[in-house]
Amino acid sequence: MKPQNLHTHTTFCDGKSTPAEMAAAALAAGCGSIGFSGHAPLPFPNVWSMKEESVAPYRAAVLALREEYAGRLEVYLGLEQDILSPALAETYDYRIGSVHCLRTAEGVISVDASREEFADAVRRCYGGDALALAEDYYRQEAQVVEKTGCQIVGHFDLVTKFNEGDRFFDEGDRRYRAAALDALDALLERDVLFEINTGAMARGCRSVPYPAPFLLRHIHERRGRVLITGDSHSAAALLYGYPQAFALAAACGFTESYYLVGRAFVPAPLPL
Ligand SMILES: [Zn+2]
Ligand SMILES: [Zn+2]
Repeated sequence: MKPQNLHTHTTFCDGKSTPAEMAAAALAAGCGSIGFSGHAPLPFPNVWSMKEESVAPYRAAVLALREEYAGRLEVYLGLEQDILSPALAETYDYRIGSVHCLRTAEGVISVDASREEFADAVRRCYGGDALALAEDYYRQEAQVVEKTGCQIVGHFDLVTKFNEGDRFFDEGDRRYRAAALDALDALLERDVLFEINTGAMARGCRSVPYPAPFLLRHIHERRGRVLITGDSHSAAALLYGYPQAFALAAACGFTESYYLVGRAFVPAPLPL
């Protein structure tokens, strides 16, 4: 199976490359397909989601590329729907459901904006207890399929984006593991795929993909399904970290990953 990346962002939201540049890069990199997953609009000011008025041009740009590349590259029209994004009426080929923000008594906080913002949220909203923030995050994550209608769970443990070296909390702590596994078990009850996502590696925030190995092993033991995505914010990063992601999948017991082909997700052996 040729490489596929269903998690890509463009200049319609917080990406650096246009959809045309992303599609050209996908073809040049030997991909058989590409999926666009612009951030759905959010009901509060932010610098990363699509604006309401960008949705129609985003859809038109992706659908035009589908025509342009017919027979050479499959082009899928997707959406990354945050748990706080209102439902959109239009149809998409697939949705990625993600928790980027939490509503707190102090207002909406972002878990993945910057290390400084994360530290500030822990201090202001959780009394300095970063594990309490993580527990809050996983309470939301447990509901991401129900609330977004997604087929793919995006970066399941995004709350660890700035936590390498256990900077904010101990990922081996019983509280952390219980919160993460409870959310994972809730999602494993549903017919969804889990990303192995290399986006934070490409942007220099992490050295390994999401999710952590203990979570991937749990997904494998519970017969969950995974797919590899780049969460790419530029054409240059389209397949960044794919070899590490495939190796991680294999190390956690998987022998296959999933690909969107037409309207169905199908398995293919890991390319090792
Ligand atoms: Zn995301
Ligand atoms: Zn994304």
